[in-house]
Amino acid sequence: MRQPLIVGNWKMHKTAAEGQALARAIREGLHATTVEVVVCPPFTALPAVHAVLHGSPIQVGAQNMHWEDAGAFTGEISPVMLKEWCRYVIIGHSERRQYFHEDDETVRRKVAAALRHGLTPILCVGETLAQREAGQTGAVVATQTRRALEGLTPEQVAGLVIAYEPVWAIGTGRAATGADAEEVIQRRVRGTLAEAFGAEVARRVRVLYGGSVTPENIGEFVCRPGIDGALVGGASLKAESFLGIIHETARAKA
Ligand code: PEP
Repeated sequence: MRQPLIVGNWKMHKTAAEGQALARAIREGLHATTVEVVVCPPFTALPAVHAVLHGSPIQVGAQNMHWEDAGAFTGEISPVMLKEWCRYVIIGHSERRQYFHEDDETVRRKVAAALRHGLTPILCVGETLAQREAGQTGAVVATQTRRALEGLTPEQVAGLVIAYEPVWAIGTGRAATGADAEEVIQRRVRGTLAEAFGAEVARRVRVLYGGSVTPENIGEFVCRPGIDGALVGGASLKAESFLGIIHETARAKA
């Protein structure tokens, strides 16, 4: 059994004080649930949010990291620094790929570095609108998944989280259909995992959907057996909508 997982990606929103207030509201509003919950604040809010959530079931994650432990990399944050505050780290988000030119090799190095330091990567994969319209969705998702995990052992891969996020669905209000997301996740994400690491690994990895998820549409995704939860951007910035998504997920997976 894979534990359902809801991850909030706050992107470049929330000061430390605002992040604490949001984390406190989520903590107070969260009823005992079978869903694992992770929030990913910006780096500057990590210690403050960690302080609020310490001792609660809510985990903290980062949104990005460098692959080196330390060195002359001005402006970067290493896994050694993150592991003081975080259990999880988002890697290869489409905004990193699009605006900061991260490629599959960069993503691969980051995934390996996170695992080396005991952080759980939340690896993001997904096609752009142009790729989708060109019929390349399956190939893009399979390639991104395979290349990010090259060199890892089946045991390492089994512990990580993958988020299928069609780029055209992120922040647009235009979510994929549940059926489409399930198809890509089962055939292209889990299919690739099965080919590269075996069927048991493909069964154990948690795979999320991401892209314009709301409390109203989350049920459409998490009712599917292959989708274990969601990576949530906009709707994770308000406690009410984030809690709504968590509670709907618990209901659907009960
Ligand atoms: C995201 O940031 O990964 C995301 C899915 O954003 P949104 O929910 O706003 O589409």
